[in-house]
Order: sequence, then structure tokens, then C-alpha cells
Amino acid sequence: MPAKRSPDTDTETPEAKKQRFSLGTNIIIVNVGKEKIRHVLHESILIQCPFFKKCLESGMREQHEKVINLPADDPEIFSIIVEWLYTNNLRPGLDPRVSPRGYIAAEKYGIHELQNVLMDCIRAKLCDNQTLSPRWVTTVWDTTLKGSKLRDLGLDHLHYCLATRPQSYQAPSDLPDLALALEYPRHMETFMADPERGLALMFRFAEKGISKLQNPAKVVGCVYHVHEDGEKCEKSR
Ligand SMILES: [Zn+2]
Repeated sequence: MPAKRSPDTDTETPEAKKQRFSLGTNIIIVNVGKEKIRHVLHESILIQCPFFKKCLESGMREQHEKVINLPADDPEIFSIIVEWLYTNNLRPGLDPRVSPRGYIAAEKYGIHELQNVLMDCIRAKLCDNQTLSPRWVTTVWDTTLKGSKLRDLGLDHLHYCLATRPQSYQAPSDLPDLALALEYPRHMETFMADPERGLALMFRFAEKGISKLQNPAKVVGCVYHVHEDGEKCEKSR
């Protein structure tokens, strides 16, 4: 990614023009992934994220060297983060399969607005499905921390699907061989094998029951979002 986009002066909005002149000249190198994909980025843009602000303002090595190494991060996902930071938009035609990984990265970097936009994309995608794969929820659980809204959504949606279509998650007792080939029952077993995950799901049933459940992917408004105290959401009801 070039340090500075080449602005198309004919179509550039006044806001974009203002941003272009206020980017500043301090440059930070961010090396991402095992391949060390190199990004040359403006410090003024990076410090909008709490994660990078902490790196660059806390007197750590990164602040002096102006280099940040993120060997465990995914270059594909990081490029989405960079595009968001510079344009406040998601790239058109973003593969919905990368949305959860993008969400987890945005959560790590503390970019709430991007988390909320990706959450809306993830919920819209889940609306297309009658059932949710337990494997999806297991992956989300294993890659998020307690309190993550994506983890909450995964558990709520799995609870909803189990309550409304339990047969999709059960191996038919009269067809043991076929059952072995069934994906959802096997993945459900894996999900339940972790006691913490199993308990979290059990408490969904204890707290919410199974009657009058709403599909969490279809609830309208500011749901599963992250906002600072007092921040207004355009999706607020
Ligand atoms: Zn909101």
C-alpha cells in the first residue's frame, strides 16, 4: 500500500481533500504476517486505533524505531483494516467469509466503527441460513475473548437454531453409520467437548428458554454493536 493514495482531483470530496492535507508526514512501517508484508502508513492514521496509539505513544521500541511487527496477523485481513482506516469504507464485493476474521482483527485493534459495520454484514449473511454450523461457533469462540459481541452472536444464534431446528443437530439413532457422516452432530460434539463452551450454551437455554425466540441475525437496530459511552448509533431504534 503506498503511503499516500493518488487522489483523483476531479472526484475528490472536500472532506477527502481536507484529510489528504492533514495526514502529516510521519511514516510508520508495519510488517504483517510470517511473510512480513510491508505497509508504509501515516502515523496520524494509525493512532486512530487504540492498539497502534498504545504502540506508538507509550515509549516502547516501536515509537522510536517507527516500525511495528505483527507476525501473527493475517496480511489479507490487515489490508482490509488499512483500507478502512484510510477511506472509512469496506472494499466493494468483500467476501463475506472474511468478515468474522475482519471483525476479530478490528476488535483487537479497537476499531469499533469497523466492528459494527462487519457485525451488520455477518448478521446479514447469517440471515440466509436456516441453521448455523457449530464449527463456525467453535472457531469464533476459540478466536475471541469473553465479552466479544461476535462470540455472543455465535452463541445466541446456535441457541436459536438448536431450539427451532433441533433435528439438524441430532444424529438419527436408527442410522448410526449415516450419523457418522453427518457434519452438524459431529461438530456439535466438538463444540460441547469444551466445558466452558458447553456451559455458556447451556446458560443460554436456562436464561432465554426456547419459546418466543427471535432470530438474532434478523433483529433490527443497534444490536451486537460496540459503542463508547454516550455515542449515538445511526441504527438506534
Ligand atoms: Zn450501534
